[in-house]
Amino acid sequence: MTWITRAKNTWCPGCGNFAIEHALKDVLTDLAEEGRRAEDFVLVSGIGCHAKIADYLAVNSFYAIHGRTLPVAAGIKLANPGLTVIACAGDGDAYAEGLDHLVFAAKRNQDITVIIHDNRVYGLTTGQYTPTSYEGFRGRSTPGGIRERPINPVALMLASGATFVARTYTRKRDHLREVLTAAVLHRGFSFVDVLQVCATYNNLTEYYDDRVYLLEGHDTADLTGAMGKAREWDYSTDAPIALGIFYEEEAPANPWTAMGGIGKDERERTIRTILKEKT
Ligand code: SF4
Repeated sequence: MTWITRAKNTWCPGCGNFAIEHALKDVLTDLAEEGRRAEDFVLVSGIGCHAKIADYLAVNSFYAIHGRTLPVAAGIKLANPGLTVIACAGDGDAYAEGLDHLVFAAKRNQDITVIIHDNRVYGLTTGQYTPTSYEGFRGRSTPGGIRERPINPVALMLASGATFVARTYTRKRDHLREVLTAAVLHRGFSFVDVLQVCATYNNLTEYYDDRVYLLEGHDTADLTGAMGKAREWDYSTDAPIALGIFYEEEAPANPWTAMGGIGKDERERTIRTILKEKT
């Protein structure tokens, strides 16, 4: 199975998106070797540089509109719970336009995996600040430097009830692959904030390389401890940056009834009735 398509890749050289694409390819390869079929995976992406991953990976995919990656992923899972649904979103996509969807998906604990390509800048539109850009960041729309503090998405997801919360980094390839595998295998809502280098508009390679460390001896069942680790670095000021699984919990998944349980005839009858009422 060839997981990389022949579509022309237009990401900038050095972009962290490549690492995420290849880590995800490795995860899909491993799972396929264990018996999962390629057609059992669905990849949903949003709008932004990250979204082109839907063109580059050879799985069924859907480009959602800006900020709406999660409602689409949730709808797919609801329609067919047998699918493994992976949503890729950018930090602007998920933490600005799509923030309410992200919080509610975590609250609902639907069995989908969300991978945030968090380069902390709007790369596709040439460098505006996003909710995770650091205080003082000078972008195209903020030449004087932003005066807001960034949000901390790891702490936010812990507070929202996500049952799998992790952070990794595009230059830690093995770690990225391990964390993405665990996220996809987790039953329930899994969230991974990937610190991604944007080589062109926000190259934080040196900053990250100097500060990241792997969580060791951390109890992933301890929510309070996870919150403490999550708040160690606030996405702005200097501090060690923990990478790893902060929190993991088995909990009942999505309380909504799957539409896939409705028979074809009944579904068609319902759709016909709805359409008739609208005409
Ligand atoms: S602008 Fe940044 S995020 Fe977009 S492709 Fe280039 S390096 Fe990657």
